[in-house]
Amino acid sequence: MRAESTGGIWAIVDHTGDEVEDVALELLGQARELADRLGLSAAAVLLGDDVRGLTPSLGQYGADTVYLAENPLLAAYNPDAYTPLLADLIRRQRPSIVLWGATDQGRDLAPRVAARLGTGLASNCTRVDLSEEGLLAMTRPVYGGKASCNVVCPQTRPQMATLQPGAVTAKRPDPSRQAQVIAVDVSLSSQSLRLRLEEVIKIPPSDLDVTEAEVIVAGGRGAGSAEGFRLIEQLAHLMGAAVAASRPVVDAGWAPYERQVGLSGKTVAPRLYVACGISGVNHHVVGMRDSRAVVAIDQDPQAPIFQIADVKIVGDLHQVLPSLIERLRRLRQERGTTEDEEILRTLANVSAARQVS
Ligand SMILES: Cc1cc2nc3c(=O)[nH]c(=O)nc-3n(C[C@H](O)[C@H](O)[C@H](O)COP(=O)(O)OP(=O)(O)OC[C@H]3O[C@@H](n4cnc5c(N)ncnc54)[C@H](O)[C@@H]3O)c2cc1C
Repeated sequence: MRAESTGGIWAIVDHTGDEVEDVALELLGQARELADRLGLSAAAVLLGDDVRGLTPSLGQYGADTVYLAENPLLAAYNPDAYTPLLADLIRRQRPSIVLWGATDQGRDLAPRVAARLGTGLASNCTRVDLSEEGLLAMTRPVYGGKASCNVVCPQTRPQMATLQPGAVTAKRPDPSRQAQVIAVDVSLSSQSLRLRLEEVIKIPPSDLDVTEAEVIVAGGRGAGSAEGFRLIEQLAHLMGAAVAASRPVVDAGWAPYERQVGLSGKTVAPRLYVACGISGVNHHVVGMRDSRAVVAIDQDPQAPIFQIADVKIVGDLHQVLPSLIERLRRLRQERGTTEDEEILRTLANVSAARQVS
């Protein structure tokens, strides 16, 4: 789309049907900030079935307007339904910038819409900002994450980016804010949809994308070998956590690149991040510093990771992890599940046994 855009900054909302996903709130905060700097409005775009109940929170998190498209055929993500609807809406309203979560849905949908509109898309961005000319400056990893580059889209509109979940922090909600809700006409027939959702299969938490995981167990070079890294995977499995890794682990082939956290990997902000044998240099920490609680296990009491850790365990992970795994297994057998608090208590007990805070 070459024409000048007149609209504002949009955030496409990922949701579960009952709740807005955190990534959508993060995008909204970013849209709000960019809109304020450019003197434009911020809008949220919500597609689904019977989801009007989600609109008040979108206003509180920064949207001036919510474009609401409701239809039973929009209940689950279907590219055949979502792509033309969004492309048409964008053509009519002409937003200047559209932000998407780099989630399963956003990664699939954003390129389809970009192709229909003939505009550019920077995918999997870790940061967006404004250039001196007021263009969207999009930062994304390249060369398998070994470098990052800045992208601008000077000629076509809208400027579009998918942003990694956790890359930005959601703003605080303002309960006094209200968005104007604009209902979008939806004319869909099931005959026009080539895809049909048959079944939703839940994947085990340890296989979850790290950006979507609530709890993460991450291993670093201190794991020593691919065999040693299996201890990290075992602990993650037991905690219902996703597995993550530092870059040397990925370079050594003990874990795939999609598990890498840090400057040239993914940015995460889980409830709990357990770092095992990771020294905590800045290149890694930038990718996980927004974690709500951090547990660090390292044999070097001076390791920088301890500066940001809430629970600190100094010791050889080849001794600490088996004893932790054993305790958690016992807890699971006794109680059926292990909640965050119990896990933290167990970790704290292990750390007490090792004479560290
Ligand atoms: C442009 C650029 C981008 C980068 N991007 C990333 C990135 O995205 N992610 C990333 O992680 N890194 C990245 N790096 C690399 C980064 O600089 C560090 O080299 C890397 O984070 C270190 O990983 P580590 O902590 O696993 O290894 P190390 O720094 O070697 O730390 C290993 C830790 O394990 C401890 N240890 C050793 N043995 C044991 C044991 N038996 N028990 C317990 N502890 C033990 C050691 O005391 C040490 O603290 C990047 C570098 C550059 C230049």
